[in-house]
Amino acid sequence: MTENKTSSGSKNPEPSETDQVKRGKIIILVAPSGAGKTTLARRLLNDFPDMKFSVSATTRPPRSHEVHGKDYFFISPEEFDAAVKRNEFLEWEEFYGGRRYGSLISKVEKELKKGYFILFDIEVKGAMNIKSQYGDEALAVFIKPPSDEVLIERLKNRGTESDETLQLRLDRARMELTYADKFDHVIVNDDLERCYKELHSLVHSFMNQSKTH
Ligand code: 5GP
Repeated sequence: MTENKTSSGSKNPEPSETDQVKRGKIIILVAPSGAGKTTLARRLLNDFPDMKFSVSATTRPPRSHEVHGKDYFFISPEEFDAAVKRNEFLEWEEFYGGRRYGSLISKVEKELKKGYFILFDIEVKGAMNIKSQYGDEALAVFIKPPSDEVLIERLKNRGTESDETLQLRLDRARMELTYADKFDHVIVNDDLERCYKELHSLVHSFMNQSKTH
């Protein structure tokens, strides 16, 4: 499994300007690297046509298969600085050797107004930040690897990490795990199918709940 981000594709026609649409909501998926998050995110996007992926901006270089505007907006550190100064980010974080990642307010708000549910695949601090801004409008789910050993094994199996980044990701994963109990829900990914079933049911009821408000 690779850790590249997932994109939604457009399955539903865009609502027109004149449509009266109910504001959408936010689903935040957080998992330490190697916990299966990318696969789960892809499946959610596939199963819920009203869900769209939040494409973040980042200063890290694209991986070979990644597409600008679909996986990330790949921007320069200068462009990132300028966006920070213009207060264009809902949240942003810096990690892995100075690389920065941020979610753009304009993109998120535009889709929420159109009634879409926005799926965030971000790290723990950004997730907490968004949850504190959106409260009940956001569902924050933490996907936990069953054990440290499994986490290490999954990271190694990806084969995309040097020893140095493997260690960085591992340290970060351990830090992220300490935040798990601050989330609305924690799901242990001991078995991908079981984990997805639980996630799907949580997301499904959150989306339906929102319709009755
Ligand atoms: P990667 O470089 O593997 O694509 O992502 C590294 C980490 O950055 C992942 O945990 C990913 O979820 C997180 N990330 C991606 N976009 C954002 C963002 O907009 N904000 C924050 N805070 N983290 C992000």
